[in-house]
Formats: sequence, structure tokens, C-alpha cells
Amino acid sequence: MNNTPNSNRKHIGIYGNTNSGKSSLMNRILNQEISLVSNIEGTTTDPVQKAMELIPFGPVLLIDTAGLEDKSELGTIRIKKSFEFLKRLDFAIYVVDGENLDIDTYKIWKKEASKYNISHMVVVNKLDKLNKDEIENANKLFNNPLFISASNNDNIDKLKDNLIKHLEIEEDEKTILGDVLPYGSKVVLVVPIDSEAPKGRIILPQVQVIRDCLDHGIKIYVVRDTELNEAINELDNIDLVVTDSQAFKEVENIIPKDMNLTSFSILFARQKGELKEFLKGCEKLKDLKLGDKVLICESCTHNVSHEDIGRVKIPRMLKKLVGGDLDIEYKVGYDFKEDVEKYDLIIHCGACMVNRKSIINKINICREKNVAITNYGMVIAYFTNILDRSVNIFK
Ligand code: SF4
Repeated sequence: MNNTPNSNRKHIGIYGNTNSGKSSLMNRILNQEISLVSNIEGTTTDPVQKAMELIPFGPVLLIDTAGLEDKSELGTIRIKKSFEFLKRLDFAIYVVDGENLDIDTYKIWKKEASKYNISHMVVVNKLDKLNKDEIENANKLFNNPLFISASNNDNIDKLKDNLIKHLEIEEDEKTILGDVLPYGSKVVLVVPIDSEAPKGRIILPQVQVIRDCLDHGIKIYVVRDTELNEAINELDNIDLVVTDSQAFKEVENIIPKDMNLTSFSILFARQKGELKEFLKGCEKLKDLKLGDKVLICESCTHNVSHEDIGRVKIPRMLKKLVGGDLDIEYKVGYDFKEDVEKYDLIIHCGACMVNRKSIINKINICREKNVAITNYGMVIAYFTNILDRSVNIFK
């Protein structure tokens, strides 16, 4: 764990006014039964960062930022730096001085944090010095914050528990692109409007990608395949093009060779699972032989279009690959614990109706039992020869 790079740690920013107790709180968190693994001193203007193991969650990076209401010249530079850090945060703790309930600065900070879709919790410090009325007032102003005393260690365990819960929820609700591209990036979404497109609307995965980009301040341009060439010429510095798997080859021929390109199926395979493990699972496809046992696992009683992929398209591709029959089983809502070892490969559905955690649990069981697992999106990308290029952006 000591070697976990900061890029693999959840970044938690601690914000608040000068003297609200941010640094004492950070030290309190670090002093829990947690091992401090590194200490990176900031410069005079940089926030101070400390890497630690937040048990039982995992590796995190705590970032103690400058006091927000410091109006001095140096203070203004520090605040600017602290705000810049918002771009890379996974979560924030906002510390309020219980003896100086500055709601205005909090509102300014909150507005800035919401630009980057940063979830946060508010803690009111100096509980040991507050009377009943002051607690009630803080409760009303900050909408039921957590009261702590960093100096007395009051409620620090509770804060840690709440922090872990928040981080687990964030982990569970992995974003689609918000953690891959920085604020202000440009994404072009290719949406073919052909006879198969539903009348008068775009489909849910496309809507979800648009919403995710908007949530994270990523500029998104939606075009049909027929206008893509024009759009590419008009727009500068495109960070990513996302297209339907079916149109991948056509889109690949239009856009420059060095432009990032991926498909919706890859985006959702990543959002609902673990790309690395699914890629490993795809490797197994190369070794599949006649008669091998393949489980196609569906999370729910699905609709017709999913039947088409899981029950028709993928089995047809697999049979063509091995040149004959495989022993393919289908299971709905299957609990992996029972007899997962008997399969040579498991192909999971897109899991649109279940949460990420349930898929991660299944991936973990497969990993433990050394059984290859991948999902519909990855298999389709593999068979359409787009897998390598479409995962490049995530490497
Ligand atoms: S969870 Fe979604 S992808 Fe999986 S079977 Fe149900 S509808 Fe299909």
C-alpha cells in the first residue's frame, strides 16, 4: 500500500476558513488507527497533501487547503490554488468554525465545487465550545452538518465512518467520462439517425453520456455520422470521439488516426465493471475450443433487444470463432458463489439495471477462482476488431 501512486488514491480536499480547524482535523484523521504512508510538503502556496490508508476503504490522499476568506495577496494566490485542486478531487470535507458560522464563504465555495460535480460533507468544528442555541443555529444554516471537535477528538470516528460511506457511494456510482477527461474537455458524440434509431428521441446510453459530460463540465457536441467530417474540421482540440460500435469502422475512417475514439459499449463496460479484468476475460476468447463451457449471465429478466445480443448475436459469434458448438448456458440473476469454476468463460450482460458493486462482487469471485469474465460490450468490441483502439483513452 505504501507504493500506491497518488493517482490511484481517492483525493479528499479539506476546505474552510482560516482557523476553522482544517489542519487539526486532517491530523486527527491521520492519527486514527491508520498508517501514514507518506507526507508531501506543499510549497508556500500549494495545499499540503498527505497520503494514507483509510481503513477499511483503502488508499486516499488528504489535501489541506488554504483558508478561504484570507484576502491578503498571498491568501488570494493560495485560494486560487485551492480552487484549482477541485478539478482533481473525488470528495471534499468543508470545515466550518462553530464560533464563526460563515455561510457566505461556504456558498461561494459550494458553487465552485458544483462546477466539478464534487460531493462533499459539512462538518462544524469546536463542538466543545458551542451551546445548545449555537448548535441549533449551525444545524439550520448548514443543513444538519456533522459536529466535531478536532481538539477533543469528538466525533472523529463518526466523521471517518461517514467519509468511508460517501467514498463507497462515489465508488459505486462511477462516472462515465468525468474521471477520464478534465473539466473543459471536448467530446464529440456520433449518433447515427438511421431506420433503427427510435423516433423522436435518442437512446438512454447516449443520454447518460451527455448528462455525465454536462455534470463534469465537459463540452459535448452531438452529430450524426453524416456530419462528422464537417464537425471534425470545425472543432479544434477534440479530446475524444464516442460512437456506436456498429459505426466504429466508418467513424475511424473519418477522424484523424491520433484522435481518441471509443464506443458506448466500452464506456458502459468500464462504468459497470472493471475494464482491466474484462480485457483479461477477452483474452480467453482466443483460447476457446469446441465444447468449452461458456456462461452468459443476465442480471435481470431482460427485454427483447438484450435477448438479441446475449442469446443470438454473441453465441453466433462464439460458434463462428471456434468453428462449431460450445456448451453455452444462460442464467438470470445468478449467484456466482455456487459453481463458477466449471466455466471456461463468463460473459456478463451490460448490467444496466443493477449497480456496479454487484458486478464488482462477481468479478472478485471470478478473480479468486481464476475464471475469466468479460461482458457484452467488450465481446462485441473484440469481434468487431475495435477493442484496442477503443480502450486506449483509459490506459
Ligand atoms: S441488467 Fe440490463 S443488460 Fe442486463 S439483462 Fe437486464 S436489461 Fe439486459
